[in-house]
Amino acid sequence: MLYIGCHLSASDGYEAMINQALSINANTFAFFTRNPRGGSAKKINPDDVKRFLEIYKREKFGKLVAHAPYTMNACASDPKIREFAVYAMRDDIKRMEYTPDNYYNFHPGSHVKQGAETGIKLISEQLNTVLNPNQTTTVLLETMAGKGSEVGRNFEEIQEIISRVNLSNKLGVCLDTCHIWDGGYDIVGNLENVLEEFDRIIGLEKLKAVHLNDSLNPKGSHKDRHAKIGEGTIGLDALIRVINHPALKNLPFILETPNDMEGYKREIALLRKNYSD
Ligand code: FE
Ligand code: FE
Ligand code: ZN
Repeated sequence: MLYIGCHLSASDGYEAMINQALSINANTFAFFTRNPRGGSAKKINPDDVKRFLEIYKREKFGKLVAHAPYTMNACASDPKIREFAVYAMRDDIKRMEYTPDNYYNFHPGSHVKQGAETGIKLISEQLNTVLNPNQTTTVLLETMAGKGSEVGRNFEEIQEIISRVNLSNKLGVCLDTCHIWDGGYDIVGNLENVLEEFDRIIGLEKLKAVHLNDSLNPKGSHKDRHAKIGEGTIGLDALIRVINHPALKNLPFILETPNDMEGYKREIALLRKNYSD
């Protein structure tokens, strides 16, 4: 079953999001748990969630892939920013329990001149502070393009974080196709090798979701600029191989391409047409 969707706006609530997802033939989606560039969170309405969960079950949706705000930086040099990151992630994990058993994805962070080693240490400390054994949510580390001082720029850095976290059974990985391509992984020429490398370093059982994006820039550019499906340097054929790969084909795929709703609807239709069950 192809689970595919895009980012939806959480501002009108959960029921509005799933109805919007249905209108573009999506069966999963992503949303920001709080203002992506600020950090404030909207109060959750339990009746709205109840109506949402009914539709979610009836329509057999795949796992949701919620996204932490961009302002969250677990390895900032400013302790105030790190404090906000702890507060926001802990609060988000609490909020995610309204919709149990889903995914919560975050950018590991930017170490801003402190070096990757310090970044990895701070990120794993944050996870050791906020993860709790009773949460049903799996927290996903997103693979990054390696722009600026981003941590998580290769599989080794992601694994290094996971290996230092006590409740690592609550952790998974979200693979962003634009980011790993920009990070230097040849998913166009040799997807098989890239996944073998992922398996060897992290373990494919940790791979829980895919951000399906084309890229404006060449492999290894460390830029992180997304393109529409088939309009970038990755191309349609390679992305079709991604959604059909046996190790990936049942994961939720989230489009983060520069589109309006009509554009997402077209991309979803295109990918469904090129998917074999
Ligand atoms: Fe992201
Ligand atoms: Fe992404
Ligand atoms: Zn990106």
